[in-house]
Amino acid sequence: CGIVGYVGSKQAEPFLIDGLTKLEYRGYDSAGIAVFDGDKINLEKSVGRLDALKSKIKGHEPKGVIGIGHTRWATHGGPSDINAHPHMDCKGDFAVVHNGIIENYMQLKDELIEKGHKFLSETDTEVVVHLLEDIYDGDFETAVREVLKRIEGSYSLLFMSRKDPDKLICTKKDNPLIVGLGDGENFIASDIPAIIGYTRRNYIINDGEIAVVKKDSIWITNHEGLPVTKKVFEVNWNA
Ligand code: GLU
Repeated sequence: CGIVGYVGSKQAEPFLIDGLTKLEYRGYDSAGIAVFDGDKINLEKSVGRLDALKSKIKGHEPKGVIGIGHTRWATHGGPSDINAHPHMDCKGDFAVVHNGIIENYMQLKDELIEKGHKFLSETDTEVVVHLLEDIYDGDFETAVREVLKRIEGSYSLLFMSRKDPDKLICTKKDNPLIVGLGDGENFIASDIPAIIGYTRRNYIINDGEIAVVKKDSIWITNHEGLPVTKKVFEVNWNA
């Protein structure tokens, strides 16, 4: 139901938790974050309020300067620690958070199980990350584009990769997504209140656009891979 992402030089976890807290008004049943520590992606998830996640990680907050977070409003698979996002592939190379519904997940799941993928959760979302791992052939962005050709439904999606630890990739269809422009750091969120305390300058992502977000650059292309020139949207109200 809520999505956040951070890439920069500071610790990601404080922003991720704060950003999710700012999105609490949207309602949710579980929450989670994934942070890359320079070696592996560390996952922390909990059913219930954000306070449950906060107390779970208290004293051993995941360290790293790139990460993603999510508050979930369950549609496929009941609220549980395992069904909470982020979801990861079998090898631990990718993590994803998702708002919305993947309509053709059953068909994709059958296909991926046939290929040997092991699923942990009951969510529609988990197929997306296994599909990414299945398709990945050295280029993160190309693999995301191929994933988008296969999935049907509505989504805001945010991906991170252990093999490409300098960037986050996000995209959307019929769900909101913004990229907040920082100084030597950038932010991703499903809604402005999550990042208003960090930056007032945003790109509003449109359906079909893919943003590759690094700490000092944001590269946005359309479905065909052609660059899109976007206007900065300045927020002039207070959350
Ligand atoms: N359909 C996904 C799930 O049930 C995402 C729900 C959401 O938007 O929070 O896990």
